[in-house]
Amino acid sequence: MENSLFEKIISREISADIVWESEDVLVFRDIAPQAPTHLLAIPKRHFERIAEFPDQETELLGKVLIGAKKAAANVGLAQTGYRLVINNGLDAGETVPHLHVHILGGRKMQWPPG
Ligand code: 5GP
Repeated sequence: MENSLFEKIISREISADIVWESEDVLVFRDIAPQAPTHLLAIPKRHFERIAEFPDQETELLGKVLIGAKKAAANVGLAQTGYRLVINNGLDAGETVPHLHVHILGGRKMQWPPG
C-alpha cells in the first residue's frame, strides 16, 4: 500500500520544517498556517484518526501530547498560550488521514471555534 502524506514526511520522502522529534513522535510546521505559529504533532506509527486509535496505546497518545507541549515551548508559545486541536472525520474538517494534533499560537483564539 502507498504511504500516506504524513508517512512520507516521517520518512523524509517529502520535506517539512521539523521543529521537534523523538523516537515515536514528529512535530513539524503546517504548510498552510492558520495562525502565526501552526505546528502538527503526529505519532510516527500510522493511525488514521483518534476514533480508530487503539484503546491500549495510551502511552503513545501521551507521548504525542508531550511532544506537542515541548514543541510549543521550543517555538516560544509557552508564555502566551496555544490551542491544541484534533480534527476527527468529515464534520470536523479532517483532510489528512494520519492522526495529528494541531498546535496553534501567536494570536488570540476565538471561542467557540468555527
Ligand atoms: P486536518 O485538516 O486533517 O485536520 O489537518 C491537516 C493539515 O495538514 C492541514 O492543516 C494542512 O495544511 C496540513 N498539510 C497538508 N499537506 C501538508 C504537507 O504536505 N506538509 C505540511 N507540513 N502540512 C500539510
